[in-house]
Amino acid sequence: MVARRSCVFVMPDGRQCRAGPQLDRPYCFAHDPERAAEAAEARRLGGLRRRKEGTIAVAYDLPGLDTVAGIRRLLDIVVTDGVGMDNGIPRLRVLISTAVAAANLLKVGELEERLEVLETAVGQGSRPEEDTAFPIEPFR
Ligand SMILES: [Zn+2]
Repeated sequence: MVARRSCVFVMPDGRQCRAGPQLDRPYCFAHDPERAAEAAEARRLGGLRRRKEGTIAVAYDLPGLDTVAGIRRLLDIVVTDGVGMDNGIPRLRVLISTAVAAANLLKVGELEERLEVLETAVGQGSRPEEDTAFPIEPFR
């Protein structure tokens, strides 16, 4: 087994930092005293970035890409901006790829509906664990 180095910084609660150290230094980037200014700047930029993401999400009413509604909202924005672009190949590419993404979204939505109908017809939405004609086999 290969011994894994870790940062030598000790936290205020006495635990050692578990991040990997930089190649030529005993500290990770965040805890290196010689790079404290750089680390502070990186933290500041990270905070600005998160704030900017939050502001944009509110301004554009973006719920996030983890739901169909969120993806649909993003595609609405892309189409609106794409239609407003100067006519040319980039505009056409934006509109075509948005159409492809929207078609995929419709397909997924239709499959989800059909699956729901099938699950309802077979029994309840969830499968019983054992004692079934089609027992669940673990992936190999
Ligand atoms: Zn560290």
